[in-house]
Amino acid sequence: SFDAVPLAPTDPLFGLMAAYKADTFDRKVDLGVGAYRDDNAKPWILPVVKKAESILANDPNLNHEYLPIAGLPTFTSAAARLILGSDSPAIVENRVTSVQTISGTGAVHLGALFLAKFFPRPQDQKVLISNPTWANHPQIFSNVGLASTTYPYFDPSTKGLDFDGLCSSLESAPEGSVVLLHACAHNPTGVDPTKEQWKRIAEVIRQKKHFPFFDCAYQGFASGDLDNDAWAIRYFVEEGFELCVAQSFAKNLGLYGERAGCFHFVSPPSPNAQDGIKRIASQLAILQRSEISNPPAYGARIANLVLNDGKLFAEWCENLSEMSGRIKSMRTALHDKLVELGTPGDWSHILKQIGMFSFTGLNEKQVLKLREESHIYLTKNGRISMAGLNTHNVEYFATAVDKVVRE
Ligand code: PMP
Repeated sequence: SFDAVPLAPTDPLFGLMAAYKADTFDRKVDLGVGAYRDDNAKPWILPVVKKAESILANDPNLNHEYLPIAGLPTFTSAAARLILGSDSPAIVENRVTSVQTISGTGAVHLGALFLAKFFPRPQDQKVLISNPTWANHPQIFSNVGLASTTYPYFDPSTKGLDFDGLCSSLESAPEGSVVLLHACAHNPTGVDPTKEQWKRIAEVIRQKKHFPFFDCAYQGFASGDLDNDAWAIRYFVEEGFELCVAQSFAKNLGLYGERAGCFHFVSPPSPNAQDGIKRIASQLAILQRSEISNPPAYGARIANLVLNDGKLFAEWCENLSEMSGRIKSMRTALHDKLVELGTPGDWSHILKQIGMFSFTGLNEKQVLKLREESHIYLTKNGRISMAGLNTHNVEYFATAVDKVVRE
């Protein structure tokens, strides 16, 4: 019998969402979930996605047949060009393989599963993940039998990157470790390395023969510029690294529930690279078949239209600017209000951090007080989803923060 099955705790983030939903206070604020909201705190269907949906709805040739095991080929190849750049040496030299996945989570999982099966490493070697990181990372790896350990990332005293800690930790890790890196807009901190820092990180990874595994959930969402947000990955590819990428279209196309994503494996430049990538693709296909048989079609079809049509693509870029622009304006509004209130502490990190989240520095006690006294919902680590702020609630939030910081 299954009497020994222990009761697992509910997922903290989804628990927070449920608590927010149940709250009847009219000025309640949801800063928990990492999903874009418009200035009225409502989910936003990107106008370009609406257009793509109507094209799909009127296409007499579409049906509900299975996609191929590796997904919709025109979608996965466009996704590779989007993240690696269309002139990427890896694409030109045919040493990339791409598999459509269940959004970014599925891509991280497929990559983890592939590494668990094929990455040559000593038994006790651990996947290196940043401290802190997206809460799902450690369990995705442990579920496929890969233990993880952390490298320093966030420095609470500067509310910025602990660059020295990061580098020395990668230096002292066992040679040939898997290193998970957030490609841009680090979740939960909103703190990214500078280009110079990325170059140094690449150097250490090369020296130590580590394997870089990029998780990219916010391309175009972070800076509003798709190329800029892919810079680190493209730099590593140009430097000739063997690497993999988990790519999500949840945030940048607002396709959260449609689960559109892609996993890319890039082989290093070598005369045998094409043979190598073929072998890797064949194994990924077997893993995919046993896990999901074939990926879901709807979100991939939308992304496929947007990525492969010049006009739709241009409109997408405008939609991305609107989302990232609104978030940046909320950073300014929140920062300025805290300064105006004279709230104790330095709040410049709110302006410096990028992407969906800000790591405010509020402690657990303050977070709980915000929830109990002001009906404001954020995760215990003090992370706020910037997209939950808008012109109607940012002052209310700043005033509540001011109060708990002074208490
Ligand atoms: N990685 C990171 C760092 C994320 O923040 C997210 C989204 N929260 C994901 C991966 C994957 O999300 P999804 O499966 O919805 O694409």
